[in-house]
Amino acid sequence: MSWIKRKKTKQISIGSIKIGGDAQIAVQSMTNTDTKDVNSTLAQIERLYKKGCEIVRCAVIDKEAAKALKTIKKNSPIPIIADIHFDYKLAIASIEAGVDCVRINPGNIGAFYKTKEILKSAKEHKIPIRIGVNSGSLEKKLIEKYNGPTSEALVESAYNWIKLIEDFGFFNMKISIKSSDPKTTILCNEKISKLTDYPLHLGVTEAGSSMEGIVKSTSALSVLLRKGIGDTIRISLSEPPENEIDVCYELLNSLHLRKKHSIDFVSCPTCGRIEIDLIALADEVKKRLSGIDKPIKVAIMGCVVNALGESREADLAIAGGRHFGLIIKRGKILKKVKEDRLIDEFVEVVNEFLQEES
Ligand code: SF4
Repeated sequence: MSWIKRKKTKQISIGSIKIGGDAQIAVQSMTNTDTKDVNSTLAQIERLYKKGCEIVRCAVIDKEAAKALKTIKKNSPIPIIADIHFDYKLAIASIEAGVDCVRINPGNIGAFYKTKEILKSAKEHKIPIRIGVNSGSLEKKLIEKYNGPTSEALVESAYNWIKLIEDFGFFNMKISIKSSDPKTTILCNEKISKLTDYPLHLGVTEAGSSMEGIVKSTSALSVLLRKGIGDTIRISLSEPPENEIDVCYELLNSLHLRKKHSIDFVSCPTCGRIEIDLIALADEVKKRLSGIDKPIKVAIMGCVVNALGESREADLAIAGGRHFGLIIKRGKILKKVKEDRLIDEFVEVVNEFLQEES
């Protein structure tokens, strides 16, 4: 029994990927190539896919980009969401190009008849719509009513759109309310989750790069995921999108919601007892094992004090000593190796272990 009881939302399908209901939390990202440049876009999608990305969004800024989606969709290993702002005709062109979902922000599409045209087309092509609401495109009257783009304003906007879309007879949707503020992101999603059963896409928008982006995103998403809220996630970083996927899996793995698509590394923070250059050792081991897509646990420890205990939890471990290291398999010492041979021998042991397990 999982320690997290997920809210059972309505299930939708984005291509082959199920979102909501009892489906696992899906990991997504967005390309940052020019969508018209089909080769570069497909190459990036391939890299994202290899990292474990399950759904990818592509920006559609003009007719050529919408047209390019036809070839992209045909050759992509994962479902494609067309990301539309302002122009409803681009949404329809993308749907006709065969995408698996369209992300619109009804607040910037203009008169509601335009959104209705998108919904009609999506219904005809049997694809869902992602309804996005964020502070940047919030209706003026709600900003005035709530004195800013507060969580109440964002939720009211999303809820109003949901009702209008449902009144039009369209129910195949997921919802995302995004803010660059983790607290607002948490409050919005807690509130909307109580009001609707549509699946929710979680993310902190414009979170920043590396440390800031990861901390902001994971602080908000951890709280929500722990409450069982969220059916699909993106960690937005000002970095190559491939990096976002690693963070998504690290987060889901940390919360025991999904297994990583790579090695789960544990390494000690180092202290005065250290007798080996652990930081360089851990970096090199990670680099040498980076191509492995099995979720085994590897611990790199600076000394033997904690290593035996920690290594019981790990499949394989190194415990550093003065000019040597112990290689440990599930808590049992396999061998003592000189420092200059330690990484090579450890990599060999990892490969043998993977063969035994396969
Ligand atoms: S494993 Fe050893 S070196 Fe690393 S923090 Fe613990 S006591 Fe210090």
